[in-house]
Amino acid sequence: MSASAEQGNQTVESARRTLAARLKAAGNDAAELDARLLTGAATGLDLTGMVTGAKRLLTPDESTCLDDFARRRLAGEPVARIVGVKEFWGLPLHLSAATLVPRPDTETVVERALELLRADNAAERALRIADLGTGSGAILLALLSELPNAHGFATDISGEALRTANRNAAELGLADRTTWIECDYGSGLTGAFDLIVSNPPYITTADIAGLDIEVREHDPRAALDGGADGLDAYRALISQSAGLLTPHGFLVVEIGQGQADDVEALMTASGLSPTGPPKADLGGVPRAVSGRRLPR
Ligand code: GLN
Repeated sequence: MSASAEQGNQTVESARRTLAARLKAAGNDAAELDARLLTGAATGLDLTGMVTGAKRLLTPDESTCLDDFARRRLAGEPVARIVGVKEFWGLPLHLSAATLVPRPDTETVVERALELLRADNAAERALRIADLGTGSGAILLALLSELPNAHGFATDISGEALRTANRNAAELGLADRTTWIECDYGSGLTGAFDLIVSNPPYITTADIAGLDIEVREHDPRAALDGGADGLDAYRALISQSAGLLTPHGFLVVEIGQGQADDVEALMTASGLSPTGPPKADLGGVPRAVSGRRLPR
């Protein structure tokens, strides 16, 4: 019997279990979670619905859909891409081919930025925030969700990414506090900003071929490739940012493994002084580097 005929006779619960077993057999170490997310997306059921609806049969359409999801997952496509949504900072975000899947690591950038603003008693102010290379809008929308009077300006070289980010802002009720600008990093912005954030591409070109298939084949290359030494984007955006910040404004950027010293040196060379050691992500890897403009 084919996998689809098999699933056509299955309940929600048995379909989920069958899929989990297939994913596990293929070496997926998040098989249970992936199966739950994919079954939920194929049936339109949330977690509670999958419990209360465990015994109902899949419709033929749901079965076909789940089959397609299974095939794509087994071929290495990330669950977030298949279902088109990923949660970041507790916010559900739509994705598109032009956006990275937001990573939990990137929440470190949000945390560092909020720490700096709160230490300055600035969280309630009418802050102007810029996010350079916003993608799905993850960092900016997380910040706006925490900073009630802030306005966000987000740039991206990809119009498609900006449309995705704009849709996310609208669905989160944040659209009236966002402005989208299609440009390279900060090139289309005029200051001054209290805070600039960015998760730029930082993988060296040579390392891209060795990344997991989920990243290598499914994340947009322009959002990953940081050039020969991985630092191209920082060279551009740090010097731009120095000219766009208010006299005491902050810059917070995500970095890749081992890039902290180089990125701090670029900040210092542009007149930004590090605001303490890099902040580590949940895996203990230094992930967010921050600097503050020195009064001139
Ligand atoms: N964090 C991503 C990865 O390692 C890279 C994203 C980026 O280059 N900014 O897969």
